Amino acid sequence: MEQSKAKSLYIHIPFCQHICEYCDFVRVGYHQDLADRFLRRCEEDLSLRQGETFETIYIGGGTPSALSVKQLEIMLRMIKPFRAVECEFTMEANPENFSEDKIELCVEYGVNRISLGVQSVQSKLLNLIGRKHTLEDAENVITLLRKHGIDNISADGMYGLPTQNLDDFKETLTWMINQKLPHVSLYALTIEPNSAFERKHIKSVDNSLEGDFYQLAENMLSDAGYLHYEISNFCLPDKESRHNLTYWHYEDFVAIGPGASGKEGHRRYTVTKNIHRYLTEGIVFDEDIRLSTVDEMFEFVMMGLRLKKGIEKVRFSDRFGVTIEVVFKDAIVKNIEKGWLILSDTLIFPSDDGRLFLHDLLIDFMEI
Ligand code: SF4
Repeated sequence: MEQSKAKSLYIHIPFCQHICEYCDFVRVGYHQDLADRFLRRCEEDLSLRQGETFETIYIGGGTPSALSVKQLEIMLRMIKPFRAVECEFTMEANPENFSEDKIELCVEYGVNRISLGVQSVQSKLLNLIGRKHTLEDAENVITLLRKHGIDNISADGMYGLPTQNLDDFKETLTWMINQKLPHVSLYALTIEPNSAFERKHIKSVDNSLEGDFYQLAENMLSDAGYLHYEISNFCLPDKESRHNLTYWHYEDFVAIGPGASGKEGHRRYTVTKNIHRYLTEGIVFDEDIRLSTVDEMFEFVMMGLRLKKGIEKVRFSDRFGVTIEVVFKDAIVKNIEKGWLILSDTLIFPSDDGRLFLHDLLIDFMEI
């Protein structure tokens, strides 16, 4: 295995108590024996990392809070030796199964940031997308987290849901603002090929309405003091997700668990999405590729331009030994002319329009 300089660790827990209508993540219905086997398998993966510590750790899913109290403790105990001193330690949780005893365990084992799957405050929409919590559940969890000293809370919200109108979304955003949540992640519904929505022929909302939802979020959250620091992410000052910044800064991160993707050195990999193979066949990858310098330069730009701040030019030249203006001269000039890209002495970043058309903008960067 290539020597890792990774400072971040992602662990994917693939269990959920219910499967949401829109979901095509790597997940499976929670089953106690399966979860026990998964934990043993995870421990084997972690044992290969002995001696390493990580400045950010993120337990995602699936639903990590779907584990039983005992299983959660096993999980957190095995991760404990891998925490650096100042570790941002995030766990995803769903409001309906994040009980006070699980929260106490999180505190005991140093979890200091929770990403809560709220999605919407309307029960009609939550029912429609197959979520099993109520707004009251979400509020109770937030109260409990704060009672136990975990203030660094992020909430996920969704827009473009079937029947959802702008007033519905406004109500969700207002709730998030009133809760003074330090971090908010907002995602448009996409109809994924393996989701129940796809099988029911549910369609995405049109681009114009999706744009209206996005603009509403931008306006309301900016007015409330949030920084729209990444395409889908907003935060109060200094409350960016340090873990996710690792991705956007194109730094190394270790991935453990089915379907998890990592990057270490010049290698990018995705662990098998097949949970049975993950449990029975040792380390199996769906993708394990050696990145060329050209690949890395493009991916560096692709990730960096997701940030409002964009790319610090010096980080590119320190990393690749050549300036970004030299490597991507044509793409940069073309997109500045379109009004999609802005170049300062130290930064290169997308304009508001550039962020909206990031996908198209990046196509020009593929032609080095
Ligand atoms: S959306 Fe999240 S909680 Fe719902 S089934 Fe998928 S992974 Fe589980």
